[in-house]
Amino acid sequence: MNKRQTALERADELKSRVRDYIDVKDTIPRGMAHSERVKAAEKKKRILEILGGTEEDWQDYKWQLKHRVSDIETLTKLIALDHEEIEAVEKIAEKFRWSISPYYLSLIDDDNKYDPIKLQSIPMRAELMEEGLSDPMAEEYTNPAGAITRRYPDRVIINVTNQCAMYCRHCQRRRNIGSDDHHTPRVKLEESISYIKANPEIRDVLVTGGDALLLADATLDWLLGELHAIRSVDYVRLGSRVLVTMPQRITDNLIQILKKYPPLFINTQFNHPKELTPEAKEACDKLANAGISLGNQAVLLNGINNDKYVMRLLNQELLKFRVRPYYIFQAKRVLGTTHFRTSVDDGIEIMEHLRGYTSGMAIPTYIINAPQGNGKTPIAPQYLISRGKESIKIRTWEGKVFDYPNRPTRDIKTFF
Ligand code: SF4
Repeated sequence: MNKRQTALERADELKSRVRDYIDVKDTIPRGMAHSERVKAAEKKKRILEILGGTEEDWQDYKWQLKHRVSDIETLTKLIALDHEEIEAVEKIAEKFRWSISPYYLSLIDDDNKYDPIKLQSIPMRAELMEEGLSDPMAEEYTNPAGAITRRYPDRVIINVTNQCAMYCRHCQRRRNIGSDDHHTPRVKLEESISYIKANPEIRDVLVTGGDALLLADATLDWLLGELHAIRSVDYVRLGSRVLVTMPQRITDNLIQILKKYPPLFINTQFNHPKELTPEAKEACDKLANAGISLGNQAVLLNGINNDKYVMRLLNQELLKFRVRPYYIFQAKRVLGTTHFRTSVDDGIEIMEHLRGYTSGMAIPTYIINAPQGNGKTPIAPQYLISRGKESIKIRTWEGKVFDYPNRPTRDIKTFF
């Protein structure tokens, strides 16, 4: 067989490896699809009518924030819920807060009872299951000063607010949401800055909450300026879901502020391709054009994205938005959210169907947070079958097994 013949046969074999995905891909709802855009535009019109807003209001994040829907009367005017669902929302409201930005609400498909946007935003009866812990990461024991969480040697978190554009039903920090919105007092932020200055091994600061981008522009400008001025801090990361739930927050003024403090990273949380809308793209583009690196930390969620095809599409689409898939988190055992938990097998299967099947850039790391705040633990399918002094045995993404030579590293100087 000549070389071209061999290459053609291999190309056919590779094609067959993605045929199932190609067949399924277009049936997965995605935010950029014409049909979804039409439905969202209709819903938006209705929401504006009911809330008494204009197109200009819709583009204003302060209007979005002020008009978050958090009462059942308004909600039932805006989306179709059956009697049981209404009852569940009312019941859960007594225990856990809910609130949805008009924008995110406009993405719900009334014709799909299990719509991934609906599942993430509308309370459901399963939240009442008495299962899980309010703080499985024991974060309350990792606060050495101010609003700092410290779990690693060289990096810390500053929790700047408990406010979010929407209170996600799967939120892993649900205990912080409480019953009202409050930003961390300035004095606590100052204490946090002093702590970072006094501990120069800290080189990476994650500003999060809640949602870091719900701080007022002036506060963000001040905080980022303070952190930028600390010589031992190499860079700052912001944790924010507004790209997904309220992209109107990415204003020109915000961009002007963020641009002043490179290197700056934003990690967000797209969980389903339906969330990747034209509005979200515009927000991502603005940030990327301003030199801000974007990463995605998806949460593996039962009924939303625990599917090898949905996850592959999500990660491929993210790259088109200039967002690098970074993590897929195994959902923790958080009280009120355990119905979203999947088996670890689901996660491993997803990873198995990413590696090799798509570009490495579209492959995030699958992470289990070890209990009691013991750190992120990467989980992957088994590619290293055995490990000896002379050789190792590896398995490829297609399941082919090879022996691969191993030997002790020789000091480079011995080669001279
Ligand atoms: S945006 Fe993040 S912190 Fe806020 S409710 Fe959603 S998951 Fe929780």
